[in-house]
Amino acid sequence: MSNLARELDAVHQHTPIEAVMLLPVHGGKGVADDYGAEDIPCYAETPFGRTLSWPVVRPWLDYDYGSSYGTQRCHSLLAWTADTVYFVQEFDGMTRLRAVPRHPEPPPPPPPPPPHLEVPKARWIGPLPRYCDFCGVPLSFSFVDGRVDSGGGYGETWAFMCLPCHHRHGAGLGTGLGQRYALVKGVWQKTAG
Ligand SMILES: [Zn+2]
Repeated sequence: MSNLARELDAVHQHTPIEAVMLLPVHGGKGVADDYGAEDIPCYAETPFGRTLSWPVVRPWLDYDYGSSYGTQRCHSLLAWTADTVYFVQEFDGMTRLRAVPRHPEPPPPPPPPPPHLEVPKARWIGPLPRYCDFCGVPLSFSFVDGRVDSGGGYGETWAFMCLPCHHRHGAGLGTGLGQRYALVKGVWQKTAG
């Protein structure tokens, strides 16, 4: 047998209960024939759905109920402490007082990668260029997606370039200039720009 008043007394002694809300069993209507409520004392008179102090609520929960094997046979509730929310859960025939953090906790930041592993900066997304726009060489290992140096008479255009052609015709590397990509361990990664 269990007793929610005594269970929450233990909580209250550890961390004061700021408020409690009593709720019907199984999401019922709070009337005498709610499923599982037949043995709960003064069930239909319970002040359901109100935020009340622990001393006010405690007498309503001071009864023994069977908490093992079978449906929930006690009030449902929410009880707040400074850092925790308690609630009644019936799972697989067992009724228990459960708890979750009152304030959502963000996941811890991921640990830094081991220093010997290179962090991939950015990947090439989209169809890969196959040939240098200038000399037509296959772009098998690296290329620059970059702006063509307008001083070369090509205007403000962008091109896929092999590295030698970028050296000759490119406007440079960086935002608005060009990005260099290289095939690293099977992935096209940005290596400059
Ligand atoms: Zn080229």
